[in-house]
Amino acid sequence: MCALQVNALASLDTLWSKRPLIISGPCSAETAVQVKETALALKSTGKVDILRAGIWKPRTKPGMFEGVGKKGLPWLQEARAITGLPIMVEVATAKQVEEALAHQMDVLWIGARTTVNPFSVQEVADALKGVSVPVFIKNPINPDLELWSGAVERIERAGISQIGLIHRGFSTFAQTQYRNAPLWHLAIEMKLRFPHLLFINDPSHICGRRDLLAEVMQRAIDLDVDGLMIESHCHPDQAWSDAAQQVTPDALSTMLHRLVWRNDDSASVEYHSALDQLRQQINQLDEEVLQLLARRMQIAEQIALYKKENNITILQAGRWHEIMERTLARAEQLKLGREFITQYLDALHMESIQHQQKILDQGLPGQTPADAG
Ligand code: PEP
Ligand code: MN
Repeated sequence: MCALQVNALASLDTLWSKRPLIISGPCSAETAVQVKETALALKSTGKVDILRAGIWKPRTKPGMFEGVGKKGLPWLQEARAITGLPIMVEVATAKQVEEALAHQMDVLWIGARTTVNPFSVQEVADALKGVSVPVFIKNPINPDLELWSGAVERIERAGISQIGLIHRGFSTFAQTQYRNAPLWHLAIEMKLRFPHLLFINDPSHICGRRDLLAEVMQRAIDLDVDGLMIESHCHPDQAWSDAAQQVTPDALSTMLHRLVWRNDDSASVEYHSALDQLRQQINQLDEEVLQLLARRMQIAEQIALYKKENNITILQAGRWHEIMERTLARAEQLKLGREFITQYLDALHMESIQHQQKILDQGLPGQTPADAG
């Protein structure tokens, strides 16, 4: 038993650089038998690197199953002993960190309901000072990248060097087919902000239902994630939490097998030369678009001079609606996304208003000569 535990721990560094890194296990540890059965089935797929299970479950409403608590930690230790899989739990308080470490958990994660609260994240960070354990940080429930980044900084300052991010989707007012809207652009932004951190996608909490998992996993892979965290259970429909989104280890294995894993680069000379040429064209087009935008703003400024002379408001709603309608119709013919063009037009309009405002403000009382010039 001990030898296997040492093996699991010794291989953690290697594991950190394994791609794709697959984390799986039940939403919650429920019984010793359930943890053992799931761990063995996951191990036999040969595709899982880390076993996860929630011991303390921060549930949105009271009265829901809130986890078995620390009595579940030895069940995970037992699962590690028989499978060799490193074990991972969620922690939300200093006491939970202490108990998890006292039971030699290999990896910890901070859940979405904790990332949202800087006091809680700081408490966890303080409890981690001087400890060497990998920590994953889920995105906060709400779509706020500063909170997510802040949590990363707090854990980094505690001296933790192996940090991973887990994208599990966001609560939004809009109703979508997902339990938590993926808001992929936020995931991309966070990945660009912290390129040195591991980036993992959690399709289970994004989807909330198992039939959507495969599509979301593939989407995440296409965006170059380092791995996936998927909830699994030997009897998913009987799970004590998140039943609808859990899959059997067999189903997980099939899904993983069907995914198309991509590389982030290629050794092919033809690939590089074709891409170089196309990218040069893109650079050239970007330059032209910028020049056109600058010219468009110069014309807006000329218009502003006339508006000023004739004492006319900058905002002309009728004219703007006309531009919107015409451009959106043309954009559709050109197969450009309606949302993209709407955002582009809004940004363009605001920039144009600012350029015109500068002209109207020139020479007004309160303007410094520099402003006026
Ligand atoms: C979980 O992973 O089981 C969990 C509670 O996730 P989240 O914090 O993303 O809701
Ligand atoms: Mn869950």
